[in-house]
Amino acid sequence: MLYIGVDIGGMSLKIGVVNELGEIISKFTMNFDKNIPQEEMIKSLAIKINEHIKENNYTGVKGIGVSCAGVVNTKTGYCDFSANLNWINLDICGILKKYTSLDTKIANDANCAVLGEVKFGVAKNYHNVVMLTLGTGVGGGLYLDDKLYEGNQGKGAELGHSLFIYNGRKCACGLKGCFERYASASALISDTKKAMLKNKESLLWKYCNFNLDNVNGKVAFDCAKLNDKIAIKVVNKYISYLSYGILNFCNIFRPEVIILGGGISNQKENLTMPIKKILKESNYGYKNTPVVDVLIAKLGNDAGIIGAACLLMN
Ligand SMILES: [Zn+2]
Repeated sequence: MLYIGVDIGGMSLKIGVVNELGEIISKFTMNFDKNIPQEEMIKSLAIKINEHIKENNYTGVKGIGVSCAGVVNTKTGYCDFSANLNWINLDICGILKKYTSLDTKIANDANCAVLGEVKFGVAKNYHNVVMLTLGTGVGGGLYLDDKLYEGNQGKGAELGHSLFIYNGRKCACGLKGCFERYASASALISDTKKAMLKNKESLLWKYCNFNLDNVNGKVAFDCAKLNDKIAIKVVNKYISYLSYGILNFCNIFRPEVIILGGGISNQKENLTMPIKKILKESNYGYKNTPVVDVLIAKLGNDAGIIGAACLLMN
């Protein structure tokens, strides 16, 4: 049996054919053409999928799973809204089904990512998993009691927009103090810049060629390893924000494992070790609460395709 996984990201569409072992056996990409109507874009995606299946003589394709970076409705198969793509009320599943005659399912990108990690990635054999993707924002995915937890209409698990600090930093969602304003890569970048402006002697300046535009989510970690005091402070503060946010999710969902994905997760043990220490010390329930493991996601750039394909697997 084969499964089509479609990953609709902010920049492009990635399409892969996935087998039952979670391996991508072929893939192709499509660029967004913002000049054509949104429905036409999905229609041409369907046509490309048909052509790809035909060219490769694939048989036994079970259906199409779609991972979408936007607000989706898993019941209707619509993308209700995507700020990046400027999509509103787009019947993604309906259009794909009409032109391919294949069964189609959709889910939010972070929910697909956790499903992929559970089925074929680092979280195999776990029953309760919380996944956080640390990028521009913080994506949240929940796999609880052996199933994906999506909530009403599949709009659940927006962990990045849970309130972290009342009346805190302004978030793109309109609220103030959301977790992602403290724990995302963008938050780390902004905190690194702020620290640099206050500390002209920091190694961070030299490391960024004396240009704030060169600051990314990696420089503070790099300079902390080189023992720069300011960078160490920035990293410790970031890890502290992240850990105490994660602690909330541990106390609410009591997962066995936390999976971290996104750009910042490239820091591997530099990130997971201190988080584990804080969780161990602060987990509610004292010594009788099982220790929560913290692991780095494994599927990387393929998470969307594989996770989307998993929507069709039993
Ligand atoms: Zn928010």
